[in-house]
Parts: sequence; structure tokens; C-alpha cells
Amino acid sequence: MAALLDAGSIIIYRTSDGVISHWSSGSEALYGWTRQEAVGRVLQELLATGFVSPRAAMGNALAKTGTWDGEVQQRHRDGHMLAIASRMIAVPPGSVLSINHDVSDLKRAQLEIARREAHLRSILETVPEAMVVIDEKGTIDSFSAAAERLFGYSTSEVHGNNVRMLMPPPDRENHDTYLERYLTTGRRHIIGYGRIVTGIKKSGERFPMELAIGETIANGQRIFTGFIRDLTSRHKLEEELRQAQKMEAIGQLTGGIAHDFNNLLTVISGNLEMIERRAEPGSIRELVQAAQEAADDGARLTGQLLAFGRRQPLNAQLADISQLVAHFSDLLRRALGETIELRTVVTGSSNHAMVDASQLQNALLNLALNARDAMPRGGRLTVEISHAEIALAETGTRPDMRPGEYVLIAVSDTGTGMTPAVRERAFEPFFTTKGVGAGTGLGLSMVYGFVTQSGGLIRLESEPGHGTTVRIYLPGVRPQASPETTDGNARREPARPPGGTETILVVEDEPRVRRVAVARLRDLGYEVIEASNAAEALATAGEARTIDLLFSDVVMPGGMDGGTLAAEIRALRPGIKVLLTSGFAEPSIAERGQAETGTWLRKPYTTAALATRLRTLLGPGAGGG
Ligand code: ADP
Ligand code: MG
Repeated sequence: MAALLDAGSIIIYRTSDGVISHWSSGSEALYGWTRQEAVGRVLQELLATGFVSPRAAMGNALAKTGTWDGEVQQRHRDGHMLAIASRMIAVPPGSVLSINHDVSDLKRAQLEIARREAHLRSILETVPEAMVVIDEKGTIDSFSAAAERLFGYSTSEVHGNNVRMLMPPPDRENHDTYLERYLTTGRRHIIGYGRIVTGIKKSGERFPMELAIGETIANGQRIFTGFIRDLTSRHKLEEELRQAQKMEAIGQLTGGIAHDFNNLLTVISGNLEMIERRAEPGSIRELVQAAQEAADDGARLTGQLLAFGRRQPLNAQLADISQLVAHFSDLLRRALGETIELRTVVTGSSNHAMVDASQLQNALLNLALNARDAMPRGGRLTVEISHAEIALAETGTRPDMRPGEYVLIAVSDTGTGMTPAVRERAFEPFFTTKGVGAGTGLGLSMVYGFVTQSGGLIRLESEPGHGTTVRIYLPGVRPQASPETTDGNARREPARPPGGTETILVVEDEPRVRRVAVARLRDLGYEVIEASNAAEALATAGEARTIDLLFSDVVMPGGMDGGTLAAEIRALRPGIKVLLTSGFAEPSIAERGQAETGTWLRKPYTTAALATRLRTLLGPGAGGG
């Protein structure tokens, strides 16, 4: 039999000591040893046989059944190891015949498959994007760990199910048709391109997702691999960014117009003031006063617009917000009327923030009036004050906001609520859903501008029929910090403003505004030197003349602003007093303002405010009346 099967690897050895008695040509080929070399040697030693299963098991099997099948490792003559599938047959008396096959290649292939599988599994587990593999029928075959997290299903819940379970209608009903159509026509709609589609989670929640599909053929079967990126947060971020950009653009526009109007109003009311003083009582004085009142109304309007454009001068002071709100509650109650209940809830003991108290009062009043309008048949307004942490993620698109501690004022009503379309535009100036005369559309925009300028954040939550909540986050401050103040603007002060005889250098690029300023100052008794820009002012300052005070606009053409000019003139004339004026609180002033309290005046200003400020700077008694 051994001779018959000579081409195969046949070895016969003695059971007792393992000495080889027969070595076929097939064995020569398999192990590299010739018959002469092998016969007479001990098999275990020659081939360094290693058993995958215990060796004793082979002995037992041979003794009991006369055969043994198994896998062993054996060494080739040149030293490399072979994986051998071996069948042994007891050949009485006292011999064993073994037939051997090299299964090394098969073994390697198996290991390679196992390695690839592990590799694939690790990809499925770690790839940050959700990955779903389906077959031609749409049956889910693999489901990555990220897909489990995204869709809320475990792999075992989806495996073997149709992928349509991850889609909302109408894709859910149509997916089979999509697949069929592709398989029959080969026309691609999504494969290889990627699409933004809607997915549905186990919870039923729908979400926007970017889907990219790849196709492979394995064993004549097509498989499709889908990569899914969750777009929920990106969409939200983009939406927020769009909103922020819109508000920024409107703010710029409004602020710019308001600024120019302020200049015009300065001219108008300045001239009116001078006419009024010269006019005889009972002559044209009433007319002038009426015009003056209209100019005042105009100034109030530009003030509101500046508030939205984040350019109103704020008088921020450290305050306990709960106490402030408690002080306002009478006013709010009166604004709300009798059918609306006001509730104030305070959590936490110290809710301190830097805030302009009168502007905050204004803001809350605006919110209360809106709530009243939204609750014509009565209801409840709740003002809640608490601590809030804002995390980095929430400040996201807002470079001006820092994560950290805030004081949260939440104002909720039980009114009509807003539709998404109204909600989106509610902060825009002049946006109103109220009839002519009923609404100006400036309420929420002022609140928005005030909160933003205060370094805070405002959030609007509203559903039709479910009321409205406005959340105002003001940057929290530890109460031991010292209170800071900026300048306030007093209007309509005593009838006889204090004058003086000092010399004042007036710098203002707008000729009409300059003319008014110069006329007012001369009226008050001062010596006045004019300059229309910073360069001219510097030249004048260089000449040997007395100048007691520099009165300059902040924003001027020619590259040098009022603040820089003041610094340069101070270098030339160290004792000089400085008063700056501006149509709005430029950031540079707002930042430095605190240190230089009282050195600037907001436009439009009254003669009285100007006169008082000048005396504060120049000191009392120097001038006449
Ligand atoms: P106005 O009150 O003059 O209309 P606002 O800027 O205060 O202007 O508000 C803009 C719009 O936002 C309102 O016309 C209204 O449609 C909507 N709105 C504001 N607050 C509320 C609220 N609490 N409930 C329902 N809608 C509101
Ligand atoms: Mg309003």
C-alpha cells in the first residue's frame, strides 16, 4: 500500500521508539530529507514534531481506535516550520503509518482572514462617522459603533433588518424601489456623490445627515457602504452664525445712521438753544421750544437705535441683580395691569453683575410690555434670577463671549407665543406685528443691543400657544470687585449755565457741528480757537499761545482720532485739560473710558451739559458767569 501511494507523504515508524522504517518520495518532497537520511532516525527528533492537541491524546486514540487525525507542526530540513494535517493508522505489530499533507498555505490564509476581520472590526468600532453596510436587498450587514451611538440602535437590533428602518417616510417606503432601479438601470443618484438627507433615530427623532455611499462587489454580490455624518450641530451653528451676521449688519447700518443723525440733531438743538436765549418771551420762543422738543424726541429715537447698534454709552455699575429687579417690580406690576400676575423667583444668594441699572430697568419694562400685549386676556409673567454657567460650546460662534459664570434673568409669559418666522425677526429694529401706533418694533432690539453691549447673551424661546421666555445672561462678577462708573449725560440742566474765560481749542471735522460748538463756547465767554482736523490742531498747539482745554471730536478723517490727538497734545502741553465728544460710545472709548471718567461728552449735548463739564475740568472760579 505504501508503495502504491509513494507520491504522497507516507511515513512508517516504530511505536515503541519512533524509529523510521519507511519514507516515501512524497515525504522527501515535503520535508527535504532523502530516504537514506530519514530511515533509521527517530521521527520526533528529525522533524521536531509539535502537537496542537496534547500528544497523549494521539497515543490514546491510536491504542483505542487504531487511527488519529489531527494537526501538527513539523520542521523542514531547511529549518522552516510546516503546518501538517496528519492521519495516523496503527499497523500491528508495533508500527504506525502516517499520511501527511502540507496545510501551511491554508493556515496562512485563515490567519490572514482573521487579521482582516479584526482590522475591519477595529475600523467599525473607531471610525468617527457612522458606517452602515448593506447588501443588494438593503439588508444591514455591518453597523459601526458610531452608527449605534447616532441612531440609538445596537448592532444586534439592526443586523439582518432592512436599512429603511433608519429613514423617515417617504424614503422609508421608497428605498426598495431606489435600490431596484439602480440595480436594473445602473443610474446613480446618490452612490459616489453624497447627499444631505434626513435620518431617523430609534427615539423617532429626525436629524439632517450627510450620506456618502460606496459600492463594492464581493463574490458576485454587490455590497453598499454608507458613511453618515450628523449635521445637527453644524446646521445649528450655521443658523446661529447667519442670525448673528444679520444682526451685526443691521446694527452697523442702524448705528451709522443714528450717529449721523446725532450730529444733525446737535446742530439743530444747539442753534435752537441759542435762538431761544436771544428771543423775547412771547415772541417766537414758543415756536423754538416746540422745535426743541421735536429735536429731543429725535435724540431719544437715535438713542434707541444706538442701543440696538451697541453704541449707547452705558453706565455700568456693580449691582445685585435680584435687588435691582425687586426694586423694579412695582413698575413692572403697573405696566402689566391687573389681569396679569407677576411672580419673581430668586435662586442663589449673590447674583452680582456689572450692569447699567436704568438700562436694565428699561429692558425689563420692554419685556413686560411685550408680555402684556401677548396676554390680552390675562396670564402670568415670571421673572427668575439665578446663576448660570455658560460652557465653551455655547459661546461657539460668539468671539465676544467668554465661557464662565453669568447671572441669568429669565422672563417668561403665558401668552400667545411666536411663530418661527416672527421669532427669527423679533430682535430686528422696526420689526413689529402690532398695528400702526401700537408697536414701534424697537423694544426687543433695544434689549438685544443692551444685553450684547453689556457682554451678555440673549436667548429667545417661544412657541405659538406655549408662551415666550426671554433669557438674559449678564456676565457675573464677584461682589468684592470695586464698582466702576462711566459718564452719564445730564440733559436740561439749570437755565443759566456756568461760563468761563479760558481758551479752548475746538477740533471737529463737520463744519456745522463745529460752528455750533464755537458759538456756544463764545456765548459762554470762552476764547475759542478752531481746527478742522488733528493735523491743524497739532500745528496750533505747537504755536506759543495759551490753550487751557482741548475739546475734540473722537472720530475724524485723516487717520488720527481724538484720543490719539489728545495724547499728542498732552505731550506738547502737559497741563492741558481734555474733553472728547462723540456721537456714540466707540469701543476704544468704552474700554479706556473707565479710567478717564468725565473726559467725554455724548452728542447731542446741551449747552448746560457742556458748560458744567467744562467747569468740572477747568476748576471753579476761574471764569465769569
Ligand atoms: P413691538 O413690541 O413694538 O412690536 P418688539 O421689538 O418689542 O416690538 O417686539 C417685536 C415683535 O416680537 C412683536 O411685534 C411681537 O410680534 C413679538 N413679540 C415680542 N415679545 C413677545 C412676547 N412676549 N410674546 C409674543 N410675541 C412677542
Ligand atoms: Mg415691544
